[in-house]
Amino acid sequence: MDFETIIGLEVHVQLSTKTKIFCSCATSFGENANTNVCPTCLGLPGALPVLNKEALKKAILFGNAINAQINQDSIFARKNYFYPDLPKAYQISQFERPIVGKGSINIEVGDTNKTINITRAHLEEDAGKNIHQDNYSQVDLNRACTPLLEIVSEPDMRSSNEAIAYLKKLHSIVRFIEISDANMQEGSFRCDANVSIRPKGDSNFYTRVEIKNLNSFKFIQKAIDYEVERQIQAWEDGVYKSEIVQETRLFDTQKGTTRSMRNKEESADYRYFSDPDLLRVHIPQDLLDSCKNLPELPDEKLNRFVNELNIKKDDAKILISSLEMARFFEDMLSFGASIKNSSSWLLVELLGKLKGEVNLNNCGITSLGLATLVKRIDEGKISGKSAKEILDAMLESKNNDVDHFIKSLGLEQVNDDGAIIKVVDEVINANSDKVEEYKNGKEKLLGFFVGQVLKNLKGVNPAKVNEILKEKLK
Ligand code: ADP
Ligand code: MG
Ligand code: ZN
Repeated sequence: MDFETIIGLEVHVQLSTKTKIFCSCATSFGENANTNVCPTCLGLPGALPVLNKEALKKAILFGNAINAQINQDSIFARKNYFYPDLPKAYQISQFERPIVGKGSINIEVGDTNKTINITRAHLEEDAGKNIHQDNYSQVDLNRACTPLLEIVSEPDMRSSNEAIAYLKKLHSIVRFIEISDANMQEGSFRCDANVSIRPKGDSNFYTRVEIKNLNSFKFIQKAIDYEVERQIQAWEDGVYKSEIVQETRLFDTQKGTTRSMRNKEESADYRYFSDPDLLRVHIPQDLLDSCKNLPELPDEKLNRFVNELNIKKDDAKILISSLEMARFFEDMLSFGASIKNSSSWLLVELLGKLKGEVNLNNCGITSLGLATLVKRIDEGKISGKSAKEILDAMLESKNNDVDHFIKSLGLEQVNDDGAIIKVVDEVINANSDKVEEYKNGKEKLLGFFVGQVLKNLKGVNPAKVNEILKEKLK
């Protein structure tokens, strides 16, 4: 029997606000345990939460980026459950009326485009962190009350590849609109994957299993693939009904398997009710309007690069693959480097040299440095070959002074017409027989003449030589 995979994703994005969502503690990562805390985020009796306007703004921006309906009035609710990292024994979240309603995201898998619908996106506070030692556990509440946007998709994805394409697109959107650093290692962008299967052609939905807290694209894909296999196996072994139950599972990154963590709560288990400590949120019209001003989104940038800058689509895709890369490239253009050379010197020459832990952010080459190098090529001041030598020197020394290297390595191309004309004349006089042949139509001899000139004039700009030779040989 053939099966179809059904995937719906819940993504938690930590919003990059300076302070927490309901108190003024800092959100900075990596501080000593329990130093970024106050009565509100410790859940002490009587402390009252106040909504952080920046978090609200970022949620609205996201809603606009996915063309979602924004609920001008929304409600915060208490989601009740007991866990040691949740001192109030409830999480402030949104249930009935989230800030962001239905929207959608376009993805591309292979050559096909597909729309993935977003059910909702709501604001909530994060919990703290339990740190488990050998025979005891500790609780760090620095993360408690940091702002999260939970983005819930419809069960629209049909393969782990589609799920990854969706996540990468979502990741790039939140980066481009700068609502989150979306750092996956630090947990600022993490995903719960809901996975089920059904026989091909069946339109019913079957039992979904939720795999919690995945924070790398690689593991998300592995976890989904493993889970699909497990469910298909259970079906084929005739134990689907008993084995596949609605539950929360954890992915074991060592073994590459999922294991049961707990039975899935139904929403009734959480006893949601609107939080009496918080006013209902009414978004003022001017705030709503100002959030319509979005930075350029990844797809818009891609289209502009392809249609207006005439960059090949595959190259443009790499150029927009991260905000840092897109910025780097656009900065190069703004410094006056040509489009074509900027793209190839960034994508081919520079990226081609970055290996292992070295990346665009830490390689030491600045957009101004690479732009200057490209400009010297554009101007014909150095050859491509010399530029490669200079780039190596720049990478090694982390020095971006291109003109310094041109001089110290003696790589300046001769562009001086007078000097070139002199050598061209010499070559023409010494080869009068070949000049005759050329004039009689043997045009490929031009290469010979160019070669002779280059031999006699080190570091000369070949394009210039070509131009002058052609003129002289007329
Ligand atoms: P919960 O709070 O129980 O996790 P949510 O409504 O927040 O519920 O999220 C449910 C997620 O499960 C959504 O992303 C939805 O698309 C997905 N989902 C629902 N039914 C299925 C199914 N049969 N197979 C896979 N995913 C599903
Ligand atoms: Mg959920
Ligand atoms: Zn606090």
